[in-house]
Amino acid sequence: MLKKTTTYTVSQSLFLTSKVKQLTLTSTGEKLPDYIPGQFITVHFHYKGQDYRRSYSIASIQGQTVNLDFAASYVEHGPGSEYLFALQAGDLVEVSGPFGRLILRDEAVKRLFLVATGTGITPYRAMLPTLTAKMQTTGLAVYIIQGVQYRKDVLYAADFIAWANANPECAEYRSYLSREDLSLQQEHYEYGGYVQQCFEELNASASDDIVYLCGNPLMIDASFATLQAKGFASGQIRREKYISSK
Ligand SMILES: Cc1cc2nc3c(=O)[nH]c(=O)nc-3n(C[C@H](O)[C@H](O)[C@H](O)COP(=O)(O)OP(=O)(O)OC[C@H]3O[C@@H](n4cnc5c(N)ncnc54)[C@H](O)[C@@H]3O)c2cc1C
Repeated sequence: MLKKTTTYTVSQSLFLTSKVKQLTLTSTGEKLPDYIPGQFITVHFHYKGQDYRRSYSIASIQGQTVNLDFAASYVEHGPGSEYLFALQAGDLVEVSGPFGRLILRDEAVKRLFLVATGTGITPYRAMLPTLTAKMQTTGLAVYIIQGVQYRKDVLYAADFIAWANANPECAEYRSYLSREDLSLQQEHYEYGGYVQQCFEELNASASDDIVYLCGNPLMIDASFATLQAKGFASGQIRREKYISSK
């Protein structure tokens, strides 16, 4: 059964990169949903005679805006992509949610690895204030690891860099660029290769660490296998694969 939907207005439609658009939803009267950072919404729409639903993680930094942002990556001929990329400010959208369990828990852990590819980084952006509060009260250390092909594909880098700079003892942000030639230029937070490398480079340990994985299913499966080989139990690895609803 379909969940109840609510109508919101698109107040902004903004290209973050050539293939990723940030959409901002604002209230049309009904209050925007209360969400736990890490959750997603589902957009319901009609495209070429059929009904579809597609899910998108909430990207808004909680407390920083009353609106709700999400970032959609363009997939050629994908119904969700075609629908979302045609939306303009002032258009109305049908949304259900929030849903999802890729959320932070109150648990005893020394280090959190929040690992993503592409738009999978957005739920971690929503978590930034909560992470800061947890780091300051519990001594938790947090790594936010973003994987993309090229520097131009990195999303919300300024927010992650500012967060890491504000918490130098316990926060680190890295972007892994799989196709960029870093011999020409390399920022201190840039690494070559794939996000999975961070587990070796940062000595991820099943006795101390919890890992969140979000985005491309291939990255998630590869990371999961690497972590299991290092002794992680499946409960220590929280996964959200970006796949389309049937
Ligand atoms: C919980 C959850 C949260 C999600 N959050 C986000 C989010 O924040 N941002 C976001 O962009 N997406 C997110 N997704 C994925 C999103 O829901 C859609 O699957 C995506 O937008 C593609 O939908 P589409 O209708 O455009 O294309 P589809 O009809 O799903 O795909 C068309 C074709 O492209 C392939 N394909 C699908 N995705 C990709 C891809 N990324 N790269 C290459 N080929 C692909 C498919 O296999 C298919 O062959 C999330 C998914 C889930 C389950």
